[in-house]
Amino acid sequence: MVMPIYVGGAWRQGGGAVYASRYPADDSVNAELAAASVEDADEAIRIADTAWRQPEWRDLQPHARAGILYRISTLIRERAEELAQLQRRDNGKPISETRALVASAAGTFQFFAAACETLEETLTPPRGDYLTMSVHEPMGVVAAITPWNSPIASEAQKLAPALAAGNAVIVKPAEVTPLAALELGRICEQAGVPRGVVSVLPGKGSIVGDAIVRHPLVRKVSFTGGTTTGRMLAGIAAEKLMPVTLELGGKSPTIVFEDADIEHAVNGVLFGIFSSSGESCIAGSRLFVHESIRDSFLERLVAKAGALRVGDPSDPATQMGPLITSAHRASIERYVQLGLDEGGKLLAGGERPRGRVYDAGWFYKPTILSGLSNSARICQEEIFGPVLVVMPFRDEAGLLDQANDSVFGLASGIWTRDYKRAWRVARRLEAGTVWINTYKQFSISTPFTGIKESGLGIEKGRLGILQYKHQKSLYWGLNEQPLPWAN
Ligand code: NAD
Repeated sequence: MVMPIYVGGAWRQGGGAVYASRYPADDSVNAELAAASVEDADEAIRIADTAWRQPEWRDLQPHARAGILYRISTLIRERAEELAQLQRRDNGKPISETRALVASAAGTFQFFAAACETLEETLTPPRGDYLTMSVHEPMGVVAAITPWNSPIASEAQKLAPALAAGNAVIVKPAEVTPLAALELGRICEQAGVPRGVVSVLPGKGSIVGDAIVRHPLVRKVSFTGGTTTGRMLAGIAAEKLMPVTLELGGKSPTIVFEDADIEHAVNGVLFGIFSSSGESCIAGSRLFVHESIRDSFLERLVAKAGALRVGDPSDPATQMGPLITSAHRASIERYVQLGLDEGGKLLAGGERPRGRVYDAGWFYKPTILSGLSNSARICQEEIFGPVLVVMPFRDEAGLLDQANDSVFGLASGIWTRDYKRAWRVARRLEAGTVWINTYKQFSISTPFTGIKESGLGIEKGRLGILQYKHQKSLYWGLNEQPLPWAN
């Protein structure tokens, strides 16, 4: 049976090509669905443009809108295990991770319910006989375009603030991971989001994604994905003079100083690069270790990397599942070969695991290379896989030059017991997030952003809702007399 998609409040077969969602651990088929067509996108957007203006959505009091978001959060929690299993099959992440992502999605809706209900508008100081207010209005139809690596959490991070702000939302999940987004569409419907306010349109970015971004009735695009795609969307947005939020790629440095707590640092570095099989925008893929501890640190790091549990994503003990597709694994293999060709030395991995569960899926071993300088292509380009390059450093100034020598500026990590040094380095690192003596921890209340080619605009945080609203000024005349000019 071909799975329906959610177009303008109706569940129906998409008008595009029929394709399969596949389980990356063994290539079995999860579901067959028909992608949304350009015509589906146009219809969903037109319906959304009517739906967001209806009193039942536009005029909802903030506490009532918050109630709907809160119900979405509750429904996600009630179906948490089912959603986690669904997402495991969709993108092959270990079940322990997909459970955490589902919990994060529920928390995001809960958080933006509160943000919606507590958002205050301001009275501004007047300069005459009038009262001035600055208020915020919904933008209208916004698009949420997401990648395949953390589907339900990425979609929640856009859908929750956009709905909290009173918009209609066209969700375009990655072609290969449509299942969680479609379920989120069902949950929105069950929670009382009026029909047509949310659509979920899976399909190819170059077809349905492009049609959504170019559509004249789409007033804002919130995009998470690769920098090349993001740059292209920014070009289209510039033509339309449409605001965009872009959460893009990264090549994040992790720095281990000689005074670091080594056990904490080893665990943090491994988690930073190899969790999610390195398919993470914030993966700490460049490791700078102080030269005085380089050898002993690497010995421990390599031993622990070799002992990571790669395997069946349904096993709660698994730390690394398969990669998303065979094509993506092939791209990672090409990068590793390139690193070797550039003079790199393999310290761990660099190959597929064989036998047992591995042969049917897209598995790859945690891989560590050394002997390369930061200018090597594999230190400059995002690989988006379980590949770590280790480089030594001598002093802080040289370290900062290397760490910041990247087109990206998404995240970074510092391991040291010296809090003054941590402060100095953290303030100088060109990155949207710096973790100090920890890595890859997230709080929905803390804004997330990338600088340089890692992005534009913020997500999360209490004011994340304002990314989906227009500001408007109101002047209220208090004059007892007519304006004097025309007298
Ligand atoms: P991608 O850019 O190929 O695709 C992302 C989304 O954009 C998908 O839904 C895709 O279908 C759509 N898309 C592609 N071409 C399009 C077009 N022409 N018009 C409209 N939509 C289009 O990225 P990906 O391979 O799915 O994801 C991996 C990338 O995402 C990595 O670069 C990673 O760093 C980045 N990412 C960033 C963050 C962040 O918060 N900064 C988080 C997760 C992933």
